[in-house]
Amino acid sequence: MSSDIRDDTRAGFAELFGREPDGLWSAPGRVNLIGEHTDYNEGFVLPFAIDRRTVVAVGARDDRVVRVASTIADEVVEISLADLTPDVLQGWPAYPLGVVWALSEYGADLSAVPGLDLFIDSDVPLGAGLSSSAAIESAVALAVNDVWRLDLDRPTLARVGQRAENVAVGAPTGIMDQSASLLGRADHAVFLDCRSLDSELVPLGLAEAELAILVIDTGVKHSHATGGYGERRAACERGAAALGASSLRDVTVADLERARELLDDVTFRRVRHVVTENQRVLDTVEVLRSAGAAAIGELLDASHRSMRDDFEISVPELDLAVETAVQAGALGARMTGGGFGGAAIALVRLSDLSRVQVAVDNAFSEHGYGQPDTFVVVASDGATRN
Ligand code: ADP
Ligand code: MG
Repeated sequence: MSSDIRDDTRAGFAELFGREPDGLWSAPGRVNLIGEHTDYNEGFVLPFAIDRRTVVAVGARDDRVVRVASTIADEVVEISLADLTPDVLQGWPAYPLGVVWALSEYGADLSAVPGLDLFIDSDVPLGAGLSSSAAIESAVALAVNDVWRLDLDRPTLARVGQRAENVAVGAPTGIMDQSASLLGRADHAVFLDCRSLDSELVPLGLAEAELAILVIDTGVKHSHATGGYGERRAACERGAAALGASSLRDVTVADLERARELLDDVTFRRVRHVVTENQRVLDTVEVLRSAGAAAIGELLDASHRSMRDDFEISVPELDLAVETAVQAGALGARMTGGGFGGAAIALVRLSDLSRVQVAVDNAFSEHGYGQPDTFVVVASDGATRN
C-alpha cells in the first residue's frame, strides 16, 4: 500500500472531524487462489491477502455517538450507540456500523464504551470480487477492538465481520474473506478449514518462481445480497440434507456416485462442484508444498470448469478472460470470488505477463465487452495498525 492512502485517510479525518485521529488501521482485500463456495459448506479455502487495502482513521469521542464517513460517499452517517441495532442499518454504513454492533455480541458493552468517529478510504475496487467488504469489516473490527480494548483474537474478529455482513448487511456470506484479510501474511496463502476455523499459512513462492497472479476484473458487478449466491447456498443445504450429511464437508468424491442417483441433476451438479472443489484445495496445498506454484495450473483450470459447468456461477466475460489467458500462456486461470461477475485470476510467468494482458484486452474488444482492468496482486500482510 502506498503511504498516500494512509496520509489521505488521516487528512480526510482531520478535515471532516476537526481533530487528529487516535490512530490508523488497515486491512487488505483478498484473492481466493482456490476453494470457491466451499466456506459455507464447512470446507476448505485457500485465499491470500492482497496489496490493496482499506484504511480507517478512528478517534474516540466523549459521548455515545458514532459518526462514520467514507471517500465513496458524501454523507456523514451519525447514530447513537443506544440506537445501534442491525435492522436500522442500510447501504454502505451497514458494513462499518454492523461491525460496531456485532462487537456487542462478542463482549463489547455498548452502554459503557465511548463513541467513535470513523473515516474510511480504500484502494480495493468495490464489487470486483476482491472483497472490499471484508477489507472494510476487518479494518473497522481491528480498530474498534483496539480503541475499546476488547482484546479479541483475529479469528474472533473474522466472525465479527461475518456477523455484520450476514445480519446487518443481509448477505449470507461465509468466513473466508474476513479470515484472509485478518490472517494473511506476505507471500503466503491462508489454508483455512471453515469447520474448525484452524488455519495454516502456506508459502506461495511466486516471486522466486518468477510467477505472478494477474487479476482480470471484468467490470461486471455482482451483488451478494441479491442474485444467485443465496440460491446456491440453499442448493448445497438441500443436497447435504438429502445425502444425510450435516454439511457437504462430509461428502467425499467417492460418495458422488450415490449422490447422482439420489439427487436431481441440478442439485447433483451443485454438490459435485463443492465436493470436488474441496479436494482441489487439498491437492493445491499438497502441490504447492511438493512442487511449487508453477504446478498448480491444472487445478485452477479444473476449478473454473467446475464453477462454469456444475455450479453455474460464471458469466461469459469471466469465461473469456480465463480461456484467453490460458491460450496466451497462463499456467492456469479461474474466476475468483462469489461469481456472477467480478474478477478472474491467472497464474502467469513474469515473462508472459504483458502478452496475456494484451490478449485479454483484445479478446474483450473483439467481443464488444468493456475493457477489463488487469493488474498483478502480491500476497501481503493481513490487517494491521498503521
Ligand atoms: P466485494 O466485497 O467483492 O468488493 P461486496 O458487494 O461484497 O463486493 O461489497 C462491496 C460493498 O461494501 C460496497 O458496495 C459498499 O457498500 C461496501 N464497501 C466496501 N468498501 C467500502 C468503503 N471503502 N467505504 C464504504 N463502503 C464500502
Ligand atoms: Mg464482498
